[in-house]
Amino acid sequence: MSSDDEGGEEYLFKVVIIGDSAVGKSNLLSRYARNEFNPHSKATIGVEFQTQSMEIDGKEVKAQIWDTAGQERFRAVTSAYYRGAVGALIVYDITRRTTFDNVGRWLDELKTHSDTTVARMLVGNKCDLESIRDVSTEEGKSLAETEELFFMETSALDSTNVKKAFEIVIREIYNNVSRKVL
Ligand code: GDP
Ligand code: MG
Repeated sequence: MSSDDEGGEEYLFKVVIIGDSAVGKSNLLSRYARNEFNPHSKATIGVEFQTQSMEIDGKEVKAQIWDTAGQERFRAVTSAYYRGAVGALIVYDITRRTTFDNVGRWLDELKTHSDTTVARMLVGNKCDLESIRDVSTEEGKSLAETEELFFMETSALDSTNVKKAFEIVIREIYNNVSRKVL
């Protein structure tokens, strides 16, 4: 969405976070939006989305970032969740290989529900847990290259790359709009 008025342009983009249960989706969002981490977070939280702003080219760009509120425990989220999304973070847990193996399914689901170009970032979360790592950085990188995704390893616990991951996606959406591919 963009609108022109006397004061310039305003942007509001929908971004979704997907991936298996307990990979850290809700904590990535709370770290980014509120700088909070919850060690005992439950699969279901009340909040559906958070809005975050950043400045690009002197313009205020807002992202409405959606969290699954626990739907992903059933290995699928509803089409309403994906509707209108122009950016996505596909998250796995670097300490649990099954969550990485399931990335393909999440990409398929995203593709099924999208009718536009979606800026996509593959996120290997919990990189603070290096001692029990189960998926190498190279594997993540390689999958991202094959699927043409941005890639980043993050930690919602110690904040590594969290802001960066969201901001790369938001910037890419903005670029897509500028290039008029949206
Ligand atoms: P979601 O189900 O994908 O939304 O995952 P949550 O955000 O609820 O996190 C699931 C569990 O993993 C919680 O116990 C979190 O505290 C923990 N967690 C989330 N992110 C990280 C992280 O970056 N590092 C570590 N060590 N634990 C994390
Ligand atoms: Mg959650």
